[in-house]
Amino acid sequence: MQHCTYSQSSSNKKTINMDTVKKAASPVYSRNDTSKVDLSNDEWKKLLPKDVYDVARLKGTERPWTSKFEKSKDIGTYYCAVCGNALFKSDTKFDSGCGWPSFYEPISKTSIIYAEDNAYGMQRTEVECGRCKSHLGHVFNDGPPPTGLRFCINGVVLDFEKAKDAEKKYNEQNKRS
Ligand SMILES: [Zn+2]
Repeated sequence: MQHCTYSQSSSNKKTINMDTVKKAASPVYSRNDTSKVDLSNDEWKKLLPKDVYDVARLKGTERPWTSKFEKSKDIGTYYCAVCGNALFKSDTKFDSGCGWPSFYEPISKTSIIYAEDNAYGMQRTEVECGRCKSHLGHVFNDGPPPTGLRFCINGVVLDFEKAKDAEKKYNEQNKRS
């Protein structure tokens, strides 16, 4: 029996790193590129999974207590799941009991933008990603010190990287060079 070595070796080459696939889900996703992303909802619809699109672009709200990040105490950084923009550090996360991941401070002043939201007869301040303007959630004035703010964020539009993973990657990169 003959073995087709060519097709075997070529399929080996196509072995995909799952980590890369996840992060490259949207072509605009980047942890380094800070240039603004401006796409129409029609374009976003083609790029994003439905649950992400509904919250990020249609300003929906995920059901409370459904996000895996709500109770998470892992140390690391939260990114925008749509574009990769760094949003919050885990040390500003707190247990608000409101059913959504909550933070008292964004990672930097420019990481998010604020917008007035008068929908549903309420006066609220909407929080959007500073890079891609995706809807993230709302900010309220009943948070803990030092800011007194509660950033109530939909977990579906968050992407998390553990500090340990980042460290490991850094060490691996240094070993290679
Ligand atoms: Zn974003």
